[in-house]
Amino acid sequence: EAKKKGRNTVCWYNVDVMEVANEQVTLRRELHEAMSRGDFCLHYQPIIQARDGKIVGFEALLRWNHPTLGNIPPSKFIPLAEQTGQIIPLGQWVMARACWDIKQLNNRLATHYFVSVNVSPLQFHRKDFVAQLQIALTKSDLAPTLLDVEVTEGVLVEANDGESQTLKAVRSMGVGVSIDDFGTGYSSLSYLRKLPISKIKLDREFLIDIQSCPRSAAIVDSIIQLAHSLDLEVVAEGVETAQQHRDLLARTCDLCQGYLYGKAMAPHCLEAFILECGDNPLGSLPSR
Ligand code: C2E
Ligand code: MG
Ligand code: MG
Ligand code: MG
Repeated sequence: EAKKKGRNTVCWYNVDVMEVANEQVTLRRELHEAMSRGDFCLHYQPIIQARDGKIVGFEALLRWNHPTLGNIPPSKFIPLAEQTGQIIPLGQWVMARACWDIKQLNNRLATHYFVSVNVSPLQFHRKDFVAQLQIALTKSDLAPTLLDVEVTEGVLVEANDGESQTLKAVRSMGVGVSIDDFGTGYSSLSYLRKLPISKIKLDREFLIDIQSCPRSAAIVDSIIQLAHSLDLEVVAEGVETAQQHRDLLARTCDLCQGYLYGKAMAPHCLEAFILECGDNPLGSLPSR
């Protein structure tokens, strides 16, 4: 998490510090009205099955389309929304909207795509989190098994009894739990023993040099083996090249997500994208 922040704040040293500070003040102030103005929207990035390239689901990614500043990336406004508490209503909107959009898509195409929704630790820690999930599912009529919530390792490492109960409640509803950015946060693995997780999302950091760096390759191998021995699925994040895809396939990675298959897109583009690629963004894949 600290690393991620470091990456996102590189600009601090290139542009006027005051300018960045001012922008943050503006954005923080505007978060509230942005919601009522309808500036936020969700884009959906395909998640494919590694073995045959078929789309199996989508990750919902939040976008802020600001009237004067243009598209603001989540790395800039999620931390602000967490500071102001706005992440709670925003996160609830995301959950409800994502379930709704995917249900509509599944209805139109007679498919069973799942949707994976990022959840802030602040949302997860709230007493009404499970109730909010239930509301989103009921209102959309999406099957719980077609919803995954993505939490970061921090949430799991620090989970107390209450949060373990939340996780169990989520899983007993049939909703999946994915660990986002796996391998970048904490070194503790003991939560894997205790908590009912369903998927691990392998951070793209490990894929970048999988070809050239035996150490990265070894880490990817080990994480996939660890996950499989615990009966968890592995999603590789940030797959950009066909070579990376082949490397992951050879290592028996289950699911993949990345620009190679498709970027996140607006809901109204999904149907055309799926129909155009025949449900398979890679076309015919090299066999194993
Ligand atoms: P994340 O959950 O790890 O999402 C994956 C990020 O990687 C997304 O960035 C996605 O666009 C990007 N990505 C996907 N494929 C590739 C690739 O092949 N190459 C590269 N370079 N990048 C790729 P995005 O949309 O900017 O989101 C950044 C982060 O913001 C997310 O990371 C997530 O932590 C957070 N976020 C996004 N939407 C939400 C939300 O609704 N709620 C919360 N709490 N956080 C969100
Ligand atoms: Mg995510
Ligand atoms: Mg991720
Ligand atoms: Mg990531």
